[in-house]
Amino acid sequence: MRKVAADALKELFDAAKQDGVYLAGVSGYRSESRQTTLYNNYVDRDGVKAADTYSARPGHSEHQTGLTIDVSGTDGKCAAESCFAGTKEAKWLADHAYEYGFIIRYPEGKESITGYKYEPWHIRYVGKDIAEDVTKKDITLEQYFGSAVPVSK
Ligand SMILES: [Zn+2]
Repeated sequence: MRKVAADALKELFDAAKQDGVYLAGVSGYRSESRQTTLYNNYVDRDGVKAADTYSARPGHSEHQTGLTIDVSGTDGKCAAESCFAGTKEAKWLADHAYEYGFIIRYPEGKESITGYKYEPWHIRYVGKDIAEDVTKKDITLEQYFGSAVPVSK
């Protein structure tokens, strides 16, 4: 990850630990070729239509920015899977990520705005001011930047 995000992530992990929540990074920075491999594997497995709801096409993944990371509990249970929703780790992230400059990038119920299904583990560094605003207003980054264009009807 980029240093600014990596430093903030360390703070976030330390704070979670204080609360008895043990978090670990599952997947951070990805190169273009890594994303291409991942996406192609998903397409092979599930088809393009399904893959596009949960995987970015190469060149479009936030993981290529170095500002995004997928997080799970240190036990690795439900890492980057929908069963992560509702865990105490997911709840802690939803409640506290913004304090360290991160947002839950693809929130529940905002699929038509973000174009992605709910990913409670996928956090994106945007800085503390924006993170707080986005979280407290319960909006997405698209809405924050005023470019909310529904991707599906
Ligand atoms: Zn992710």
